[in-house]
Amino acid sequence: MRYNNSNAYYEGDYNQCAYNYKEVNLNICSHLERYIIDIKNLIFKPKSKTKDFFQFDNKIQVFVNDNTIIIMINITDKCSLSCNNCNIEGNRIKINVDEKEIVKSVKKILEYYSNQIEKCDLVFYGGDPLVDFDKILYIYDNLGGNYHVNIITNGFLLTDEIIKVIVNRDISVYVNFDLGTKNKICERIKDNLLKYKKKYAYSNNIKIITHYNFHSNLEKLDKFYEESKLQIAILKEDYSEHLKYYDKIEQSIIDGYLDQYRNLTNKYKLYKKQGKECSSFLKQFLNYN
Ligand code: SF4
Repeated sequence: MRYNNSNAYYEGDYNQCAYNYKEVNLNICSHLERYIIDIKNLIFKPKSKTKDFFQFDNKIQVFVNDNTIIIMINITDKCSLSCNNCNIEGNRIKINVDEKEIVKSVKKILEYYSNQIEKCDLVFYGGDPLVDFDKILYIYDNLGGNYHVNIITNGFLLTDEIIKVIVNRDISVYVNFDLGTKNKICERIKDNLLKYKKKYAYSNNIKIITHYNFHSNLEKLDKFYEESKLQIAILKEDYSEHLKYYDKIEQSIIDGYLDQYRNLTNKYKLYKKQGKECSSFLKQFLNYN
């Protein structure tokens, strides 16, 4: 597992909730479930163990370490998409979020920890939080104090107007994006991301959460991130994706993967020699900095 929050890269090899003998069981977008611990670890930096963890109510979870508090807020069960395997499909999960209540609850939590913490991160997830972007802005405007807003989204609703607010308010947005998926929805998300980077070349407010496995076209991924200059926040190895324990991967697929690995390693060395900047994907894939 590799994390990239601003310029820091570090390994995550622990489960903070297991440390507290608790499990994270969030009603969350099915695509994000596998990343939820990684997202929390990404925001808690430098790496340290969670000292306190609790479920405030059915929408809010709180994680505290030495001097940082992360408040994770399930802001909506609505989504801009309708994936087949969605946890939230058919309104199985019903969340009525009153933004005024959220502000009250967060203030209460922050007050309780006011002597211990120096940094506060709010993390909004769903569904797709961008569906209720106005609620997030209400919370942002009414909380006061010094905190940072993070949003985890599928990126479908990243319009010019929303991107402008994100950049102006220095909000961190993590987009779950899989370049390998080919359909109109992914094309639109890709377009949104490319438009963002074209307009705000020096901004890294929007970063990518993604994964790869033996079937990934690694060289294509590297090319995309090299050309777009998009930054990856979390790159997850997911070799067992779609596999059952008894499945075998054909040797030819593994050989193809290793060929790509070698090519990319050579490319990295060449770029280093030439003083050229490698893609965010390549640096994280090879775990080089
Ligand atoms: S419909 Fe939305 S919330 Fe559900 S899995 Fe798809 S992106 Fe996630």
